[in-house]
Amino acid sequence: MTEHMEYRVTALKNGTVIDHLPAGMALKALEVLGFHGDNVVTVGMYLDSRKYGKKDLVKLENKELSEEEIAKIAILGPHTTLAIIRDYRVVAKVAVNLADEIAGVATCPNPSCITNHDDLRTRFHVLSKHPLRVRCHYCERVVTESELEVT
Ligand SMILES: [Zn+2]
Repeated sequence: MTEHMEYRVTALKNGTVIDHLPAGMALKALEVLGFHGDNVVTVGMYLDSRKYGKKDLVKLENKELSEEEIAKIAILGPHTTLAIIRDYRVVAKVAVNLADEIAGVATCPNPSCITNHDDLRTRFHVLSKHPLRVRCHYCERVVTESELEVT
């Protein structure tokens, strides 16, 4: 099989390519998106990236991400991009920018925070994007990237 043929085989007809994820984050991305084998997924990990050293890449067949799913992906890395593919063509490229507030997609690590007891949508104010530091709207705890559990 020629190299060209191989590329055609792995090309997406319809779906989304999540590119420039931080190296090692591909499986976390699938976890936060709640993928359980209902779509075909291609994962590339520790790929060479000219800009950022190493990166991960995820191809999701027949899947376009919702606003909420994009918000979750944004938490995982500051350079992530999405390419939406329709009929083998890139119809849109989106830089995944973290909003100034993260709502409903991550849990607060403070066990006594009200969001862990009441049925309340979590809210965090973004203090710094890279490295990620946020403050819980309710208990005011400052949370770093490694403590933030994306749900
Ligand atoms: Zn909290």
